[in-house]
Amino acid sequence: MLDDFNLEQNIVYKILINSVKNNKYSHAYLIETNGYSKGLDLGIAFAKYLLCPNSYSNNKKCGSCSQCKNIDKNEFIELKIIDPEGQWIKKSQLEELQEIFSKKSVLGNKKVYIINKAEKLNPASSNSLLKFLEEPEEGIVAILITENIHQLLSTIVSRCQVLSLKNKINLDNFSTKEKIAHYLSNNKEDIENFINNEDNIVKIEKVIEFIKYYEDNHLNTLIYINKIWNEIFKDKQDIYNAFTILLLFYKDVLNLKLGKGVQIFTDYVNEVNNLEEKNNLDEITNKINVIMDLREKIKFNVNNNLLMDKLIIQLGRCDVK
Ligand SMILES: [Zn+2]
Repeated sequence: MLDDFNLEQNIVYKILINSVKNNKYSHAYLIETNGYSKGLDLGIAFAKYLLCPNSYSNNKKCGSCSQCKNIDKNEFIELKIIDPEGQWIKKSQLEELQEIFSKKSVLGNKKVYIINKAEKLNPASSNSLLKFLEEPEEGIVAILITENIHQLLSTIVSRCQVLSLKNKINLDNFSTKEKIAHYLSNNKEDIENFINNEDNIVKIEKVIEFIKYYEDNHLNTLIYINKIWNEIFKDKQDIYNAFTILLLFYKDVLNLKLGKGVQIFTDYVNEVNNLEEKNNLDEITNKINVIMDLREKIKFNVNNNLLMDKLIIQLGRCDVK
């Protein structure tokens, strides 16, 4: 039950409890796990809190009514949990959900759907979800759970109340490479592999060099793109990671612009400073959106040369004053 999280996730716990008590719950929550392993459990506990007639009406700590029991058995039709099917969450899964939820509620006045590993939404399912979020229906609550908020479309994030769970690890004193490893994955083995592979520091610096080159040369970067990018980042995972590093770098530029200081590229403060001076707030946020949108396309079989041409041209549009 939700009370189980009172100690470990006190802030989020209080926000959720109060939103229901005051009948001011959101139509959509986005729970950012930050490496906390019980994010899905928390999501289900909250769904139970919303759906159980006892905890809702008189704040009893239920768990034993027929609704609660059916939820435990995953047999409660007004709660749907979506997990990735294979590599991605598919559009058909979202369509099926909308079909089920379009029927009138049988048991109560609320329906909840949980999207677990929301970073696995692909462009098609992201768009389906976006339509669903844009026209919120009375009584339907979405709970998205993600290990990596940076992989979600900004348009989805902006429609959700974001709840950030407490991370066990404080990244403050980590190197840039270690921080990036934690942003790329929450899997311990993946993180260690990334940190231990010496090539990755080279790759991080190649991304920074690319950014510097682009910011100095703009569209002329197209001529040298093979040398400064295509010959270095070849397979899909490499390109995806490189785009994430690109994204994190511009986000750090934004952090600096907003007075929050450099958070990830702490080993490259001068480089972040230079870019912050060259870009105004609109330029930075537009560039972040361009990179996020194009990064989504990497999940499909996009041609690498074409992808980079698009990136440079679209970044160029952000720079037109
Ligand atoms: Zn109950």
